[in-house]
Amino acid sequence: MLQFLLSVSFFLLGLLFGSFYNVVGLRVPKKESIVYPPSHCPACARRLGPGELIPLVSYVLAKGKCKGCHTRISLLYPVMEGLTGLGFVLVFLRYGLSWETMLGILFVSLLIIITVTDLSYRLIPNKVLLPFFLLFLVLRFLWPYEGTGYGQHLIGMAAGFLFFWLLAVVSRGGMGGGDIKLYAVIGLFLPPLLLFLTVFLSAACGTLYGLYLWMSGRGARKAMIPFGPFIAIGALVSYLYGSGLGAWYLSLY
Ligand SMILES: [Zn+2]
Repeated sequence: MLQFLLSVSFFLLGLLFGSFYNVVGLRVPKKESIVYPPSHCPACARRLGPGELIPLVSYVLAKGKCKGCHTRISLLYPVMEGLTGLGFVLVFLRYGLSWETMLGILFVSLLIIITVTDLSYRLIPNKVLLPFFLLFLVLRFLWPYEGTGYGQHLIGMAAGFLFFWLLAVVSRGGMGGGDIKLYAVIGLFLPPLLLFLTVFLSAACGTLYGLYLWMSGRGARKAMIPFGPFIAIGALVSYLYGSGLGAWYLSLY
């Protein structure tokens, strides 16, 4: 019962944070303040009332349209809110009431924000990466991942950066600078084995999506796919289930 109540609390917390991350992700790349002006309809600039600021609920009640001008509200808002809630719950269910859960929540937050910026502007801004990089640099020193030392986190960071930097040089710009720096931050947060798994999973997701586009006749737009969301999916799955997957894989032999 306690587990259930805590799960619900983590989900609600995630919804609240998620709606804030939408604001951060949509405003920071445009160099706008994240507190001023208050939330408004992007189409008619009408300021939103308190009843319109409830994550998920407001969207459903308004049937996805602005009350003033009836313009469709982007599905990005409720989807990212829901995903943040889900991410927070899954982190809690995996790591319990621990420091790791607090760090995991920050990790989910980073992944959500860069997904919003990459989907909306095809950008992973330094202004988002740098604060998380500094936070993880300190927090991983205090609380390394279970069974891992701080040294391994630093090696992961360097490996993530170097590998993808080389890949970018070789592929001549096939990989964005934001993606490279994101891998460095993920390498700092995750132990090396889980970073490796992240690389594999995100490449697999990206390839599957590319195949899907190609088969549905939209292959020409392949170059336009932002890769950040795939990195986010790979990193989260790896963080939540990577050690289990590793044990399962080894048990096959
Ligand atoms: Zn409006």
